[in-house]
Amino acid sequence: MKWNKAVLSLTPYQPGKSIEAVKRQYGLEKITKLASNENPFGCSAEVKKAIAAYADSFAIYPDGYATLLREAVAEHVGVNEKQLIFGNGSDENIQIISRSLLDSSKNTVMATPSFSQYRHNAILEGAEVREIPLIDGAHNLEGMLAAIDENTAVVWVCTPNNPTGVYIDEASLRQFLNQVPEDVLVVLDEAYSEYAVAEDYPKTEKWIETYKNIIVLRTFSKAYGLASLRIGYGIADEDIIQKLDPAREPFNANTMGQMAAKIALQDQVFIERCRYENRQGLEQYYTFCQEENLSYYPSQANFILIDFKIDSDEVFQYLLENGYITRSGKGLGFPTSLRITVGSKEQNSEIIAVIKEFLTLQKSLTK
Ligand SMILES: *Cc1c(COP(=O)(O)O)cnc(C)c1O
Repeated sequence: MKWNKAVLSLTPYQPGKSIEAVKRQYGLEKITKLASNENPFGCSAEVKKAIAAYADSFAIYPDGYATLLREAVAEHVGVNEKQLIFGNGSDENIQIISRSLLDSSKNTVMATPSFSQYRHNAILEGAEVREIPLIDGAHNLEGMLAAIDENTAVVWVCTPNNPTGVYIDEASLRQFLNQVPEDVLVVLDEAYSEYAVAEDYPKTEKWIETYKNIIVLRTFSKAYGLASLRIGYGIADEDIIQKLDPAREPFNANTMGQMAAKIALQDQVFIERCRYENRQGLEQYYTFCQEENLSYYPSQANFILIDFKIDSDEVFQYLLENGYITRSGKGLGFPTSLRITVGSKEQNSEIIAVIKEFLTLQKSLTK
């Protein structure tokens, strides 16, 4: 068959291992998944109630305009309803952007390592990918600026960055945006913004008034705990939203997801609690890393990347066999690090104890 070359050059996205698969493979009863930055506290109890009561409209197509959710997000974010686009997760918004702006005559600039889907979608569109290495886990914004030329269509900025958790402060981000040509779309992927607590982490919702060439991507998959319902949204100038809309599948955001996201948005007490617990959890890991002399990046997200200075698959495998699914840095561009999602206090203590076991074993072997 006449497959596109780009398709043949790619491998499918490697998700974190599923709980069921690990249970079966290792004959374990209890599995803790800290691999995909999902919320260990689930979602708002209000969402669970509403979903339990919902059974009427499986036969009816979703609202393609996501009217009720759109109203709720517009109010929450403080923008106009026409400045929003909804996707089947941020993943789909990334796809829509790529499809609308990239082709073989253009290039796209991004940091590396960063979220894999920017590169993946760019390759599918046949665009040239310009990857600028991180410096100490952070975007090299000057390097990214230097890589932009007249054929650059999209620049991807992930803050806090997945998989390092490092963020871009307000002044640096503004300085960067001030220098990007106006005809280049800058995507600010803020999948973890709800977890960020740094005082200079920018609140970018209103920046679309100043910068007509940005789109801010947010998702209900992480802090809101609705990863399985697949809802993400983009905030941008109305003109950008209009141009992107034809590349969106007509019924992309499903009915349950729209309903759940709207209710979840109303429960900001839940989000505050998750943000607080996440900070406490990160402190558990920081203390552990300091005790064990392991280096890590201070994180503004709900995960931590820890450098074990050995093949990361070894730590990953040891944890897996003990019932903990994490993410080996091998596939993420950090071959000696492990990315661990911050869990509940108990989950963190448990996994830290198992990692300590592993380190003790390592030390006895290398003696
Ligand atoms: C998880 C993640 C996404 C994808 O989110 P979905 O809304 O579940 O598709 C996008 N960007 C980053 C940086 C992520 O970590």
